[in-house]
Amino acid sequence: MSRPSSSRPCSARTNTGNLFPSLQGFVFTEKLGSGTYATVYKAYKKTGGRDVVAIKCVLKSGLNKASTENLLREIELLKKLKHPNIVELYDFQWDEKYIFLIMEFCSGGDLSRFIRTKRTLPERVVKKFLKQLVSAMLYLREHNVAHMDLKPQNVLLTSSSNPTVKIADFGFAKHMFDGDKESVMKGSPLYMAPEIICQKTYDARVDLWSIGVILYECLFGRAPFASKSFQELGAKIWNDKPVELPYGVNISEDCGDVITRLLQRDPDKRITYEELAKHSFIDIEHSPSSSSLQKAVSVVKDAVTEDTKGNYSNAIKLYCESLEYFMPAIHYEKCENKKEALRKKVKEYMNRAEELKKMIRPKKDSEMRRSVSSDPMEELLDLSKDDEELQAALKVIKAAEIEESNEEYEKALTHYELGLKTVITYLKEDSNSRRKKLLSKQAQVWMSEAEKIKSFLDVSHLNTNDTSGQEEMEENEHLQTGTCNLQ
Ligand code: ADP
Ligand code: MG
Repeated sequence: MSRPSSSRPCSARTNTGNLFPSLQGFVFTEKLGSGTYATVYKAYKKTGGRDVVAIKCVLKSGLNKASTENLLREIELLKKLKHPNIVELYDFQWDEKYIFLIMEFCSGGDLSRFIRTKRTLPERVVKKFLKQLVSAMLYLREHNVAHMDLKPQNVLLTSSSNPTVKIADFGFAKHMFDGDKESVMKGSPLYMAPEIICQKTYDARVDLWSIGVILYECLFGRAPFASKSFQELGAKIWNDKPVELPYGVNISEDCGDVITRLLQRDPDKRITYEELAKHSFIDIEHSPSSSSLQKAVSVVKDAVTEDTKGNYSNAIKLYCESLEYFMPAIHYEKCENKKEALRKKVKEYMNRAEELKKMIRPKKDSEMRRSVSSDPMEELLDLSKDDEELQAALKVIKAAEIEESNEEYEKALTHYELGLKTVITYLKEDSNSRRKKLLSKQAQVWMSEAEKIKSFLDVSHLNTNDTSGQEEMEENEHLQTGTCNLQ
């Protein structure tokens, strides 16, 4: 990867007269942005498929010892990191004047610009972005990397329609193992965790704070410590007051909870990476990822096994659980044909789950019961004329039977259970032998009815028709076509 460019240090003049750096094999077409120590350009390869790339050009003369170290660290880290939500480094080269980082091009620009043009982003979109950022952050943690400069300018969008976000600019990042502390001030004050400024030692948990600030800014259009002067900013940072969400904003409880827990001044009270992954607003386990399909297939295989064994209630549960992975898998799949094939397959599984639900649905035909000449319930009621307690219990069970025929399953279950509690005590001590025999036979029947209802209720609420993936896509459509509120 590290080979020096044979091109001589030179620059190309653009239409507008600006000077672009030049690198052999590439044509620079436009400036994408600039940051602390680099300028990034869009370029394409002269050969092959004319692939478009982003080239981060760092002027060597502008580098001091610290920034050289930062750059080398950025290259070293990015070479290792491969994740769908981290911008990919393809190659790096250098000449006498510049160091070039040849990277994946993100045509949607950075998140800062995206927020500025939309003013604020809808919660659904923010949720999608946050899931992607958290997925990248968990990957960074696995590799013991802390980014240290997370801010909207360093989060890139793959396109302006239905974008995916990617973390970029690892210039301040470093290897940080659990328990490692850092004491050099890095990052941008608006996004910096308070402990960097107030305590001067900090660890990888600073990235959690910065994610909280990004989330805040996406939803409310400004960072929580946004200020008109350095003095005001300082006062906000050096404050013990908890960060408050703007008054009267309409966000879900879950969303508010995750922001508040990320924006905890004390890193010990801040949400941890593990808690964040499991937080109901994020739920990484069920987010679209390369492993969603694999998980879906594994769960659906178990469903089919249970189905074949005749364990229908378990099978229904597993079919429905597989949907929670199939939906993100469909969302993750880029190929329209494969998406469609998956949708078809999922529909088949869900139809089967519905079929099974019907099969295990308790059926009680009251008409049939009435037509049977010797109704055991009537005989039992007759045999317990002198026993008020048993009479009452039997009447409760009778009500349960009627409710069951009327498909009022919750009520029926409560009444079966209530009645059976008393009936069971009679099975032990009943002096009337005919009644005891009949009661014991019927108790078996009622218990089995109650069991049937229980396992039906256990699965009846499960959704076989979840279209959340579809909704998410529609939200993105809305975002693309929505009017831009320029500040
Ligand atoms: P610095 O280290 O100088 O801050 P960055 O890597 O953050 O440099 O890049 C500066 C800006 O250039 C970003 O904020 C973004 O607007 C733009 N940019 C950077 N990399 C890319 C890329 N791969 N695709 C598109 N735009 C990019
Ligand atoms: Mg930057």
